Order: sequence, then C-alpha cells, then structure tokens
Amino acid sequence: MTTEIADVLIVGAGPVGLTAAVVLTQLGHDVVIVDSQAEGANTSRAAVVHPHTLELLEPYGVTRPLVGRGLHTPDFTIRDRDKVLIAVPFDRLPTAYPYTLMISQADTEKFILHRLTELGVAVRRPVEVTAVVQDAELVTATLSDGERIRARYLIGADGLHSTVREQAGIGFAGGSYAESFSLADVRVSGGVPKDEVILYFSPAGLVVVAPLPDEMYRIVATVDEAPPEPDVAFVQRLLDERGPKARPAVVEEVVWGSRFRVHHRIADRFRDGRILLAGDAAHVHSPAGGQGMNLGIEDAVTAATALSRVLRGESPELLDEHAAARRGTTEAVVSIAGRLTSLATMPAAVRPIRNTAMRLAGKTALVRNKLAWRLSGLDRR
Ligand SMILES: Cc1cc2nc3c(=O)[nH]c(=O)nc-3n(C[C@H](O)[C@H](O)[C@H](O)COP(=O)(O)OP(=O)(O)OC[C@H]3O[C@@H](n4cnc5c(N)ncnc54)[C@H](O)[C@@H]3O)c2cc1C
Repeated sequence: MTTEIADVLIVGAGPVGLTAAVVLTQLGHDVVIVDSQAEGANTSRAAVVHPHTLELLEPYGVTRPLVGRGLHTPDFTIRDRDKVLIAVPFDRLPTAYPYTLMISQADTEKFILHRLTELGVAVRRPVEVTAVVQDAELVTATLSDGERIRARYLIGADGLHSTVREQAGIGFAGGSYAESFSLADVRVSGGVPKDEVILYFSPAGLVVVAPLPDEMYRIVATVDEAPPEPDVAFVQRLLDERGPKARPAVVEEVVWGSRFRVHHRIADRFRDGRILLAGDAAHVHSPAGGQGMNLGIEDAVTAATALSRVLRGESPELLDEHAAARRGTTEAVVSIAGRLTSLATMPAAVRPIRNTAMRLAGKTALVRNKLAWRLSGLDRR
C-alpha cells in the first residue's frame, strides 16, 4: 500500500472537478485528481453555459475555445405557442458574452480537460475513493485497491451520489418533483430559430427548444412518464402539441435522448474541516434556467481560489466564508429554478391565467432585466 501526499486531492473529474484542478494547478498548487470511471462521459447533458461562467473561466484559458465551439444565442424567450410572453434581453447585458452559449457537456468537459493536460496534470482513472478520514494536519482518502492518498485539503466533486459527502457525514436534504423530464438532441427543420432559446409554456405543457452547434436542437419537456429513449414520433408530438404553430417544426432525426427525474437537494454544509463539496455533490435541482453545471463550475472556481489563499498562509476561516457564501448562492439559484419549474408544470386548468399574468409581467422592463441578470449569473459577480 503506497501513500502519496498532495496539496489538494480532487475526487471526481466531471466539469466541476476538472475546473477545480485547472484553477489550483494554474495557481501553482500540487493537485491529484481521480475518477472512478475508466473514461469521461461523452453524452450531451448540460447544454447551457451562461455569461458569468464564461467570465469566471476567462483567466484559466478555457473560455476562448468554449465560445469558439458553442452557439451564441442572444435571444431567450418564454412563449405560448407563437405568442411571446416574456423576452429576456441577454443581448443587452454588460458583458463580453451577451448571450447563452449552447454547447454539449461532452465538449465543455473536453476543453477543460485539454487545458488541464496543457498544465501537465492527468486524471487518474479508474480510481474509486471508498473512504475519507481527516485529522488536524491532513485528509486521507482510501482507494478501492487499498492505496491511500493524503492531502492538505480535499474537494468532493463526485456528483449526486457523493461518497465524500457521505463519508464526511454531511446531510443532503430536499425532495423530488413528480414529473419526469424527457430530453433529446435532434435534427429539425421548420419554425425553429438558430439564435434563440425558447421555453414554450403552452396550454398542453412545457417544451424547451434550444439550438446547438452542428445544426442540432436540444428539446426538453416535462411529461408524466418519459420514455427511456425518445423517438422521432414522440418528439414530433411534443412539438406539435406545445411548440410553434404558424410555422411548425419537423423532427428529422433523434441523435441522442434520455430521461431523468429531478430532485432538489442542498448539502447541509459545504465544508467539513479539510473537505469542501462542489457541484452536484453539494446541490441538485431542476434544469429550468440551465443553472446546474454553471453553479457547479462557480463552486469550483471559488473553492479553488479560496483554497489557494489558505495554502499560501491565509486563515482557514476563509473556507468558512466561502462555504457559507456558496450555500447562500445555491439557495437563491435552487429557489429560482424551483419557481420556474412550478410555473412550467402548473395544472392545465390554470395555464391560461398563468400565461396572461406572464404576458403582463413581460411588458415590464424591470421583470425582463431581472430575469436576464439572474439567469445569466451576472447578479452573482
Ligand atoms: C441525462 C442528463 C441530462 C442533464 N441535463 C442537464 C441540463 O440540461 N442542464 C443542466 O444544468 N444540467 C443537466 N444535467 C446535470 C449535469 O450533467 C450536472 O449538473 C453536472 O454533470 C455536474 O457536474 P459535477 O462535476 O458536479 O458531477 P458529475 O458530472 O456527476 O461528475 C462526478 C464525477 O465523479 C466521479 N465519481 C463519483 N464517485 C466517485 C468516487 N467515489 N471516486 C472517484 N470518482 C467518483 C464520477 O465518475 C463522475 O465522473 C444533466 C444530467 C444528466 C445525467
């Protein structure tokens, strides 16, 4: 059994763990990053990168390739079939990135990993952390083959079913939504713009239509029971019943599809001594507003920056400030994602009233601007 010592051990090489590794390495620290999977996931999943995330990643050499590959969508609207209820003005935001960047999570991870490789760090995989203990000096992770890694600090970026969170005895309170989400990346023609993310809040239910690179579109809908793999007929029906009416959309091919149930849970605390939680290990919530991965990447950048300062001699109390601030931010984001989800999934009988109220609210610049600031993450600068 060998024991190795690092400044920081990062458990999990999803977008969050990879980002933390890039930031800490670039800031001059000695990092070990491990992942239990033999290779990274190559599916589309989180497809939205918001302006604030792009700003945060800028100093670490990741933003330029992301904006080079992703699709820039300056318009974001909530509609009832062809009628605009609220137009959210992303294009007027005071940022170098006044748009929603649409890009598959596989590509986002690829660019962050590429930067980590440039910095000379390789992800160790498949390496599963099975136990974590800490003392006054160090934190020790035991791997499935019995090896141990000791580090001054550990970041648990090991996702929803986090072993690190469980080993640290941190609770993960919350609940689940009744609806199931159906998700498909499709080729489609007809009434689907290339520069606009549209949330259709139609009487028949919610469907999101968002453009992706390579002439693809991401379709997301809430349904009672989603099929494991949506086919062309299923997605076509969703768009016929809920999407554009005057110029219908025609689905030609489903390239990738999935389904998921949504939980809303927040870790009781984001720090336990030498352990910090980040990303899905710390919070999961509805995909409404596309906040999940963005919030996780923010956790990673802020945790790594705070850890760097502590490793250079500043007070470990900084980590408490970081953890408390991130928990507060998470509560606010989970709350807005929850409110959007409740609005989107209201019972059919009240949807016409909801839409009238939204159309009236959408006439107010204050409402439109507030939504743009909150969804883009710029209110968290
Ligand atoms: C089908 C699907 C669709 C989604 N769609 C959206 C969407 O539209 N919008 C959105 O915002 N989000 C979406 N998400 C969620 C998004 O993918 C996550 O928020 C994001 O991946 C979180 O990143 P993370 O790095 O925190 O965790 P993950 O990406 O889950 O990465 C955790 C990593 O830790 C590793 N790991 C776990 N346990 C251990 C261990 N014990 N030892 C070592 N390694 C370990 C895992 O192998 C994994 O690679 C979707 C997720 C799925 C599955």
